[in-house]
Amino acid sequence: MSETASAPPRPVLELRSLTRTHGSGTTEVQALRGVDLAVHPGELVAVMGPSGSGKSTLLTLAGGLDSATTGQVLIEGQDIGTLSRKDMAALRRRSVGYVFQDYNLIPALTAAENIALPRELDGVSARKARKEALEALTEMGLEAVADRFPDEMSGGQQQRVAIARALVGDRRLVLADEPTGALDSETGETVLALLRQRCDAGAAGVMVTHEPRYAAWADRVVFIRDGLVVDQTLNPAGAESLLGSIEGAR
Ligand code: ADP
Repeated sequence: MSETASAPPRPVLELRSLTRTHGSGTTEVQALRGVDLAVHPGELVAVMGPSGSGKSTLLTLAGGLDSATTGQVLIEGQDIGTLSRKDMAALRRRSVGYVFQDYNLIPALTAAENIALPRELDGVSARKARKEALEALTEMGLEAVADRFPDEMSGGQQQRVAIARALVGDRRLVLADEPTGALDSETGETVLALLRQRCDAGAAGVMVTHEPRYAAWADRVVFIRDGLVVDQTLNPAGAESLLGSIEGAR
């Protein structure tokens, strides 16, 4: 064992006193009002809370797709607010996998090409990127749709392609906004199992979900309300009752 074995690992993602205000004047909305969160290698964190509580804003900021009003986002110890746009884009492609509700697949590219594109942009050869994409699709049970375009796939298939794209390569941080949204429960469980597997292999994951059943795959559940973390539990089994009490309090 190395000398540093007992030192706590550096978080892959750290949010420090994060705030985000949308709009100004009478239309001003404080989507986040001071959130602190650290997610370590191997950890899957579920974020739960009522609609409008700031969950999507939190994920968007965590992935560097939007900027904080105040506070910091650190990915692998690096304050992303200090990065140039170019360095930020490279960090996003290399280190961060995203699964969003609207899939964001590029309509003019096939399933395999959608998955391979970010890898190729990052310098991986087209051949290797295609091979990785096919492996990722096979893992999702989607090898048959590799050469189909998004409009030739069902919503559930598109969602799984988006998940395969987020997990391909060596992404250290996986951010997922309702990753099981359009999926039947069996496929939803498969997706969660893959996310879990990726975290067990050393990635850090943050997933927004409304389903306590899916949150039960997480190591920790963070509850947010009105832009603040109001509770956390290490015991996912308690998620359902806690969420019920938070929603009941609204
Ligand atoms: P959740 O994901 O929990 O539903 P969001 O992060 O989407 O919550 O939104 C938090 C609050 O910020 C809501 O009041 C929402 O209306 C507001 N909001 C989110 N994005 C924007 C935006 N681009 N412009 C103005 N208000 C926004």
